[in-house]
Amino acid sequence: MADEVTRATGGSEEGGRPLRLAVIGAGMAGILSGIKLTEAGLDDFTIYEKADRLGGTWRENTYPGLACDVPSQLYCYSFAPNPDWSHLFSPGPEIQSYLDRVAREYGIDRRIRFGDEVTCCAFADGRWQLETAKGHHDEVDVVIAATGVLHHPKLPEIRGLDSFEGAMFHSARWDHAVPLDGVRIGVIGTGSTAVQITSALVERASHFSLFQRTAQWIMPQQNPAYTEEQKAEFRAHPEQLIDIHEKLSVLFAGFANAVVDADSAEMQDIEDACRVNLEQNVHDPELREQLRPDYRAACKRLIISPDFYEAIQQPNAELVTSGIERIEPAGVRTRDGVLHELDVLVLATGFRADAFMRPMRLLGRNGLTLDEAWAERPNAYLSISMPEFPNFFMLNGPNGPVGNFSLIDVAELQFGYVMQLVDRLWSGECREICATREAMDSFEAARTEAAKRTIWTTGCRSWYLDDRGIPATWPWPFTRFREEMQAPDPAAYDCR
Ligand code: NAP
Repeated sequence: MADEVTRATGGSEEGGRPLRLAVIGAGMAGILSGIKLTEAGLDDFTIYEKADRLGGTWRENTYPGLACDVPSQLYCYSFAPNPDWSHLFSPGPEIQSYLDRVAREYGIDRRIRFGDEVTCCAFADGRWQLETAKGHHDEVDVVIAATGVLHHPKLPEIRGLDSFEGAMFHSARWDHAVPLDGVRIGVIGTGSTAVQITSALVERASHFSLFQRTAQWIMPQQNPAYTEEQKAEFRAHPEQLIDIHEKLSVLFAGFANAVVDADSAEMQDIEDACRVNLEQNVHDPELREQLRPDYRAACKRLIISPDFYEAIQQPNAELVTSGIERIEPAGVRTRDGVLHELDVLVLATGFRADAFMRPMRLLGRNGLTLDEAWAERPNAYLSISMPEFPNFFMLNGPNGPVGNFSLIDVAELQFGYVMQLVDRLWSGECREICATREAMDSFEAARTEAAKRTIWTTGCRSWYLDDRGIPATWPWPFTRFREEMQAPDPAAYDCR
């Protein structure tokens, strides 16, 4: 894949008119952008980061049990394999350290303006005018928005939430000053986050209550540690890591292909694996039925866990399914009248998935605001470009692949594509480039139609679904995404 990016930028070595660029966000995709821009010889750029540290989601999420459910050898840049991953699925802090290290090694950390949020991007006279929270002004030719998908915590609308007298926080705002050992812990939610927290905290809590509104299918997956011998072998033969990355990429593409076809045999295999996991590993019949979802596996984002069922069956763990009536100073009152007394309450209630790029103000041609362009909902041609927002490109933007894929793979492919658009600006072929309205509309129509065949529309509530019940994600096989990212279709772009 690194080669693809290099190829994409090939031919632009000579360059043309000088370009200044801004990258917004120093998470995984922003760091990638910095590395690839430098390699391409486009050295005049600044990465803007609102926080005082890079890392994006891996900086924001620090909850106990945090891990990536994409294998570590896949969840890393294709050009920067890591022989030192501790596990098949390594914990979050290791991923944060990896990103820190790669940024340092490629000299990208020095290119980041930390602690300064971009508050406004306005297109005027062919350039983007940026304003930051600290009053800094920048004028650039190209903006790459690497602002992330899920980073606005969604707090639950539950009566009395603020009345709780113990410690309470959202899973992405973990308060590490709060003691967890030997106390009564409650977690609201049963998404990927809550499941990881449950596995990590049951053994530490005196009593653990998991408040489940909707049961989840759990895909079993062991998480072996890499031995020191294996790591030494990887260090001696780094080419093995490239090979593993490629093989895992193909494997995950297989999974991605399954979920976009609800009737596929592969989808059936996934459902069977989840059902067997539930039947074989949850012993109490009543608990088993409480944990059994009434919708198809992978309709919600599939949860992968080696030990959630084991944790929730511990004697000090309780699955609470009676529904939350309200929060009280002492704990959570459920609809059956029971008060679940707690010392710590964790809101693992997810994120506002439609809050792409907000609260930044974005104004395209003729003062068109992002709020106007996205009045119905966020969308972008191939997830990357929007009509009337020239020279503004998104990585992991709306409608991209976000399922159980490696978002690093996705961002690398997208960046290779974006660089080909930037090349056209650099060479002087055009001064402004963005997707045409026709390309955007026909992409949107095809995407909406294809979405109806995916597993995500088979009858569940999830953050994938927009206000119409259409999943806001890539509805085709991953191979199609790869193909689309090879080269922009010139007819889809307004180049002037
Ligand atoms: P989520 O999947 O949106 O789950 C939120 C949970 O909170 C759901 O169980 C939801 O119940 C529950 N909830 C929300 N409001 C509630 C209310 N008012 N009362 C009771 N329950 C309520 O959020 P998440 O677990 O943070 O995960 C979000 C995404 O982050 C994942 O889908 C994934 O893409 C990513 N993630 C990835 C990893 C990884 O390992 N790669 C780990 C963590 C997160 P309902 O189901 O009934 O709506």
